[in-house]
Amino acid sequence: MLYFCDVNDTAKHKGRRLQLVELLRTKGITDERVLQAISNIPRHLFIDSSFEDFAYQDTAFPIAADQTISQPYTVAFQTEQLNVKPGERILEIGTGSGYQCAVLCEMGAKVFSIERQHELFLFARGMLKKLGYSYTGKFGDGYQGMPTFAPFDKIIVTAGAKEVPAALLRQLNIGGRMIIPVGVGTQKMLLIDKKGEKDYTIKKMGDFRFVPMLEKKDG
Ligand code: SAH
Repeated sequence: MLYFCDVNDTAKHKGRRLQLVELLRTKGITDERVLQAISNIPRHLFIDSSFEDFAYQDTAFPIAADQTISQPYTVAFQTEQLNVKPGERILEIGTGSGYQCAVLCEMGAKVFSIERQHELFLFARGMLKKLGYSYTGKFGDGYQGMPTFAPFDKIIVTAGAKEVPAALLRQLNIGGRMIIPVGVGTQKMLLIDKKGEKDYTIKKMGDFRFVPMLEKKDG
């Protein structure tokens, strides 16, 4: 799929974003910083221009390499659960379109993001740069995390994992938090707080559907 990279962000787009933010409020999102980030970021630039009219509906969309940009509610929910604070080091697994990464950058986090599909890695890198966001991107396998940049205050996984990857648990700071959908087909969203080197609390946060977290990179 080819992208038409339009940097055009009009009053119409902004108006639609505000409507989306109001919808997210009715669905239970309360973190004003998350809602502000969503109202600031031109989501339509992260998807194919043929879907532009739907960019501010609360739905997932196909992006390149048979992947999807997550539904705005899912982005808002995962970000809210992370309780993001400016300056925190956050690792994202599954850069995809780069939209979730933009939300975290917009909230002042220092973001590290891994993508296993080269086409998406390049697209996200280009778009995030164009929009003025700076982050550390890696083309690779998220199951390995980013040991050279660890530890992280927060980790967000945006693909459905078979299990919680041990490397990611190791790379989380004590006092840190991870949000990760686990399961095949439908996933349980798990909120994991790391209390000590081998001490975790795990809360189930409901059912979601993500594309699968696959091993190794696409090559
Ligand atoms: N956060 C993205 C959502 C993309 S969908 C967004 O805002 O658009 C999930 C992404 O995870 C896909 O792009 C997929 O290629 C990627 N992915 C799946 N398994 C992975 C792995 N092991 N390492 C890194 N990325 C992975």
